Amino acid sequence: MTVRTRFAPSPTGYLHLGGARTALYSWAYARHFGGTFVLRIEDTDLERSTPEAVQAILDGMKWLGLEHDEGPFYQMQRMDRYREVVKGMLDAGTAYLCYCSPEEVEAMRERMRAAGEKPRYDGTWRPEPGKTLPGVPEGVKPVVRFKNPLDGEVTWHDVVKGPITIGNKELDDLVIARPDGTPTYNFCVAVDDWDMKITHVLRGDDHVNNTPRQINILRALGAELPQYGHLPMILGADGQKLSKRHGAVSVMDYPEQGYLPEAMLNYLARLGWSHGDDEIFSMQQFTEWFNLEHLTASAAQFNHEKLGWLNNHYIKQTDNERLAQLALPKLERDGARFDGAPALPTVLGLMKERANTINELADAAMLFYRDPQPDPELLALHLTDAVRAALGTFAERSATVEWNKAALAAMLKEVLAAHSLKMPQLAMPLRLLLTGQLQTPAIDAVLELFGRDVVLARVQKGL
Ligand code: GLU
Repeated sequence: MTVRTRFAPSPTGYLHLGGARTALYSWAYARHFGGTFVLRIEDTDLERSTPEAVQAILDGMKWLGLEHDEGPFYQMQRMDRYREVVKGMLDAGTAYLCYCSPEEVEAMRERMRAAGEKPRYDGTWRPEPGKTLPGVPEGVKPVVRFKNPLDGEVTWHDVVKGPITIGNKELDDLVIARPDGTPTYNFCVAVDDWDMKITHVLRGDDHVNNTPRQINILRALGAELPQYGHLPMILGADGQKLSKRHGAVSVMDYPEQGYLPEAMLNYLARLGWSHGDDEIFSMQQFTEWFNLEHLTASAAQFNHEKLGWLNNHYIKQTDNERLAQLALPKLERDGARFDGAPALPTVLGLMKERANTINELADAAMLFYRDPQPDPELLALHLTDAVRAALGTFAERSATVEWNKAALAAMLKEVLAAHSLKMPQLAMPLRLLLTGQLQTPAIDAVLELFGRDVVLARVQKGL
């Protein structure tokens, strides 16, 4: 058997974290077996589907690097196929025409509710051997209903939740085509999974109730059943369903905030699946390890700190040139000036240890790319007479010292010794004069990066 998985989003909004995780697991499962990953866009809800949402899904998948092997297939382009299958089912007697108006159906439901029964379609138009059907009313366009088995039950072994059984009595004779002939949701999904030869369906557990209906339709079609796995939802830190209230829920908000796709993938991989205690792994490692046995059945809680920690890990692993490309747009937006300033990759390399996001990194790097505006009160505090004298010596020595970190560090020590000062007494005012702030990377590294001319100009201006 060749493994064939699919991701089947409805394009009614952005690609959210839960959707991305479903896509990731389906993709990884196909990759693990050298199988096929299909992308299918379920766009039959014309009122809620938009081209922008389709694009947002494609963008999100692209950012994460979840490449599909087939598709994207659009359900709206498969209408002829659904009509053909409806007709085949009518011919085979596994579906039938129902002429009840929506009002009649509502009235029968109401009667059942009043009788304390579960409201369902009463089978008025369901053909049975020896049963006489009512006369076809004039001017009424029928719906097509699926002839759901009356007895027995549907059981499947959910790869996440274990065995699930639903009695057929719980299931209505589902409408599979509306009066205008358009097919309905569960029917389209079943036909697609059949036609696309899907072997494993991983999806959110909001679909558990659809599964027995889809299984019955697939059985009626003589299709082989895929395995189903329903992933529990992702909760916010407060235990509530993840939503806008919790901050970014669209995958594409994350590059905007300075997250790397590697970090997001690694994070989502562990949010609902485990491999021992392993927390950090590449996608190659993940696709080798990924299996259905270690999917977590309980709801996962989104942990922003952990995502930040992973992002920091991947930022540290990333080469400085790529970091520069990623950080540049934000620095430019923030008005960075690059003429005469140290090279961005070098600066980012110096600062990446502590950054949880590219945006934090860009903010930190900004001290090299703007005019320093030291707070006059702070300056007055740090620029004592003794410090001024030491800075004078520092400036003299700076004119000729070899300009590298080691030589600069040695020179600073000599200046301190000559003026009987401690390192912070000189380093702090130097930081203020050079960058306008008191917190910077190590002072010798900062001096080296700014270069002799800038350092001398700023110290002399300060004095
Ligand atoms: N289109 C459905 C959704 O976006 C998923 C259907 C499925 O995976 O079967 O929730």
